[in-house]
Amino acid sequence: MAASRNRGNTGGNPRIMVAVTAAVIIVLVGLFLLNQAASKKDDGMKLLDDAPSTASQPMMGSGEAGVTIVEFGDYKCPSCKAWTERVWPQLKQDYIDSGKANFAYINVEFHGEESTLGAKAGEAVYQAYPDRFWDFHKALFDAQPGADHNSLWLTEEKLLDIAAETVPEMDKDAFLSALNGDSAASMAELDRILVRQYGVKATPTIMVNHIEIQDPFDYEAIRSAIEGELQP
Ligand code: CA
Repeated sequence: MAASRNRGNTGGNPRIMVAVTAAVIIVLVGLFLLNQAASKKDDGMKLLDDAPSTASQPMMGSGEAGVTIVEFGDYKCPSCKAWTERVWPQLKQDYIDSGKANFAYINVEFHGEESTLGAKAGEAVYQAYPDRFWDFHKALFDAQPGADHNSLWLTEEKLLDIAAETVPEMDKDAFLSALNGDSAASMAELDRILVRQYGVKATPTIMVNHIEIQDPFDYEAIRSAIEGELQP
């Protein structure tokens, strides 16, 4: 009888039934969305509404390429050094050198003043001698200590040494003036805006057109995203 009364009470109140049905629908929609998110995570990719703008960013590769790969990176970040050493050479060989994709680098400043100094140095070199940018970029990651990367190493003195080797046309005064000038600062600010706009939380973050790669060291996911985007 108790069971019968309970059924009667619930079944007899249409407002409760509507509320229960609505709650069930909300839960089911939630589960559906969770499954969708999970299935995207399974293939290592997250779809974004659009691709980040690469206007005014250093770009390597063919301007005609249909795929643009963007790295959000930080010269002070050990994972970015590791990515540049372990993933980047294969990516360059397979897709950038072949003209299938191009590659842009956007600064992130997650490690304080040294990150900011590195970002502005890259911008200064890129504006003065764009053809020298990638040599400077690689040399700066090479200079990051493999152990104890938290120690102070990214200094003006270190940057001057690297610039002297990789951008010999740029003398010391010109480099320091550009490094501390408004133009490099405003380019670094543009990158900060992109970092906020795209919700970049970790470095390196790798995007293939409008696809964010969940694990930047998962080359198979990067490859799969590029191949998918190359399809007509
Ligand atoms: Ca930039």
